[in-house]
Amino acid sequence: MDIETFLNQESARAAGYRCGFIAIVGRPNVGKSTLMNHLIGQKVSITSKKAQTTRNRVTGIYTDDTAQFVFVDTPGFQTYHRNALNDRLNQNVTEAIGGVDVVLFVIESMRFTDADRAVMKLLPKHTPVILVVNKVDKGNADAAALNAFIEGVRAEFDFAGCETVSAKHGLGLAALMAQVKPYLPESVSMYPEEMVTDRSSRFLAGEIVREKLFRYLGEELPYAMNVEVEQFEEGDDIYHIYIAVLVDKENQKPIVIGKGGEKLKKISTEARLDMEKLFGCKVFLKVWVKVKSGWADDVRFLRELGL
Ligand code: GDP
Ligand code: MG
Repeated sequence: MDIETFLNQESARAAGYRCGFIAIVGRPNVGKSTLMNHLIGQKVSITSKKAQTTRNRVTGIYTDDTAQFVFVDTPGFQTYHRNALNDRLNQNVTEAIGGVDVVLFVIESMRFTDADRAVMKLLPKHTPVILVVNKVDKGNADAAALNAFIEGVRAEFDFAGCETVSAKHGLGLAALMAQVKPYLPESVSMYPEEMVTDRSSRFLAGEIVREKLFRYLGEELPYAMNVEVEQFEEGDDIYHIYIAVLVDKENQKPIVIGKGGEKLKKISTEARLDMEKLFGCKVFLKVWVKVKSGWADDVRFLRELGL
């Protein structure tokens, strides 16, 4: 341990302050992004009804007088499509779990699928894992049935604790944070108090376009699709942003563009309005579609994209 780390720990101990990393894992659609957004009180990660919206790790930070919680939102675990992209996603899950202080394993109330079990197999043995039973607002079970369901899941893994929550309505979240806190190491805070993410504006701009694509393409969404921010210029009163949507095949281009270009226009208009709100200034945004054949299987290309 170097002297600086030692002094930091000593001063944190004196103040009783805690700071640590928390991974949020679970199969797609259980509500991981919704949970993190609510925990940190601001929309940073992207939510949608369709699985796999979150491809990159997004760090959310929550700071109060006694602790700083640094969250890592992992990509959804994929079990059916096997290609380089999914191998990489699964590797990201494993990487996200390593090196954190606490893992939140999120499942849906009264629903435990093979995909949940597949993620559960990746849970670490030497890091505390808290079972988070989400969507209890759905009211699809009485207390006895819910307890029996939870007992069943707890029998399959040695969880450090369990909390029933509704990420959407913010229920049970204070209790969840209180359960997490004792597992965070005594340390001074690592990030400035006002910071909610360590992601750049450039990254967030790409995520906003990605969210709109998921929203407006719905079931038509090409399986292999990605968003690349090609240029991001912060001017004094206007940002110039150029974003390419990458698809795998020529025939997927018209799906994204829409009849007479209307779909892409809607996507970029809405994305621009969101960006203007987020950055607090005017935005010039250009979004276009590019074909990059076979990219989903090209691992080197994925690395270039930072996946
Ligand atoms: P992720 O794939 O695990 O990140 O899941 P998302 O956060 O994107 O949520 C998937 C869907 O579940 C969205 O439509 C959310 O609105 C919904 N959802 C998330 N949390 C809750 C909850 O507590 N109650 C209900 N009823 N729906 C929720
Ligand atoms: Mg998500």
